[in-house]
Amino acid sequence: MKISSTAYRLIFFSLGFLSLLAGLPACKPTPAPTEIPAEIPVVAAHFPESEIEIPTWEEPVLILPKASIDTILSPHKAITKNFSSREINHIAVQDAQRFAQGNTEIIDLTLIQPDDYAFPLPGGKVISPYGGKRRYHSGTDIKTRPNDTIVAAFDGIVRMAKPYSAYGNVIVIRHYNGLETVYSHNSKNLVKPGDEVKAGTPIALTGRTGRATTEHLHFEVRFNGVHFNPNYIFRFRTRTLQRNYLICKRHKNGSITVSPVKKQDAFLVKDLPKTLP
Ligand SMILES: [Zn+2]
Repeated sequence: MKISSTAYRLIFFSLGFLSLLAGLPACKPTPAPTEIPAEIPVVAAHFPESEIEIPTWEEPVLILPKASIDTILSPHKAITKNFSSREINHIAVQDAQRFAQGNTEIIDLTLIQPDDYAFPLPGGKVISPYGGKRRYHSGTDIKTRPNDTIVAAFDGIVRMAKPYSAYGNVIVIRHYNGLETVYSHNSKNLVKPGDEVKAGTPIALTGRTGRATTEHLHFEVRFNGVHFNPNYIFRFRTRTLQRNYLICKRHKNGSITVSPVKKQDAFLVKDLPKTLP
């Protein structure tokens, strides 16, 4: 049978049309999408990188061997609840855990989160700063009104709570980074040695016990028993935490110094600045 070229074309197009029809099931309109189960993390794939938590040690601020950083940087360490009678009865005592790894310890205040510190006398104003030439002042005096609530500055364990000569009723708290805070002249102490406190826990009421001429809080910060300037810890005007590293050093003659270094300032440990620039 002879098939004309026209017929060929007809068959060809018909076959093409049929194959197109055969393909139709794949092209038929898809049903309306059912709701996507909530547990499928649809957006996860597009999660912006900026929201990924950045490790604290991203920037090389400290020029130290990594191993040294691990051993001397102490954001949170186990501390004892079983204080010796010396620790329960005296303010300036050495801490057996301090300088256990070497002669330098670094406290990074930037690791303390906003919920983990509290200004010790909320609303208080400084009436006498640390230091001075004539009679050295071992703390910062803060005032509000008589019998106002004094709170723990950081999480920790109460080491001492008793009357202590010129300090009057005093509380000493040991914190997990090795710091100690002292709260003095209280009309009443509200906690006892061994009590665990959180930042903001009420610990005493303001008074003028001991050597004090007005009701106020005498607030000290100490490391291994040695007091240092509370301005290194708090900005008293705004009642906020400083963003410092505290470089705690034990020197050859046994003396201890605490120096603040601003986090953004890179430094070599061998030539630490003695004071803030
Ligand atoms: Zn004072």
